[in-house]
Amino acid sequence: MTKPKIAFFDFACCEGCQLQVYNLEEDILNLLTLVEPVEWREAMSDQSDAYDIAIIEGSVTRPVDETRVKSIREKAKILVALGSCATTGGVNKLKNNFELGEVKTCVYGDSADMPHLDTYLTKSVAEVVKVDLMIHGCPIDNEEFAYIVRCLALGKKPFIPNYPVCVECKLKENICRYEYNEICLGPVIRAGCDAKCPSNGMWCFGCRGYVDEPNVNAAKEVMNQYGKTLDDLRGKMLLFGTNEESTDVIEKN
Ligand code: SF4
Ligand code: SF4
Ligand code: SF4
Repeated sequence: MTKPKIAFFDFACCEGCQLQVYNLEEDILNLLTLVEPVEWREAMSDQSDAYDIAIIEGSVTRPVDETRVKSIREKAKILVALGSCATTGGVNKLKNNFELGEVKTCVYGDSADMPHLDTYLTKSVAEVVKVDLMIHGCPIDNEEFAYIVRCLALGKKPFIPNYPVCVECKLKENICRYEYNEICLGPVIRAGCDAKCPSNGMWCFGCRGYVDEPNVNAAKEVMNQYGKTLDDLRGKMLLFGTNEESTDVIEKN
């Protein structure tokens, strides 16, 4: 069997999702029986323009990134966005809430005008090119990554949950975070993490992005039931690049 060639590319991010891939440890060797890495800056020095599957980690924050993402798209048969920086814009989208010049000066001080720091509003990869598959989370779940790569290598369509975190949370019989007077985004956020945060004493802060058709009315009912406001909800949605969409989603419903 010819192994599909796979290449990893990183853009604006902490590279924690690639780190999650290394954390697979021995299972990486199993994956290498199915795919052949040809570019992976964190793991090897080779580079290649010939790949079947491109995995992009990070968000697009500069004009030069946009050109590079488009070039990767042209060469790849399958393009995968890895982690919330790539799938939704992630925490990098926080900067979109501020004036760009102010952000640059805050981060780079007197050097803010240097040409290589040319930056614009953060975009997810799908805001620039067509994305075939998204691996959600900040960071990703490495077992889900391994499952998806196996599916791609075998020509199968992976199952990506399109129901809310609450489903997994209820199955685990967790006490709802609203009972602790907290706000949890579980009713509108995509499952697949096994309700990791509520199962460990934390509210869901939305790292896997929205389900395709978020049931905002259900979320509103929960908010009403516990005496919370939509502004409370919006505040929680700021962290993971869901802010613009959340305002739209909430106000349309
Ligand atoms: S999604 Fe989170 S862990 Fe992954 S690269 Fe972005 S910030 Fe890092
Ligand atoms: S709102 Fe949060 S804590 Fe409550 S059931 Fe849903 S995911 Fe679990
Ligand atoms: S519970 Fe929410 S924030 Fe936590 S890992 Fe799952 S989707 Fe991400």
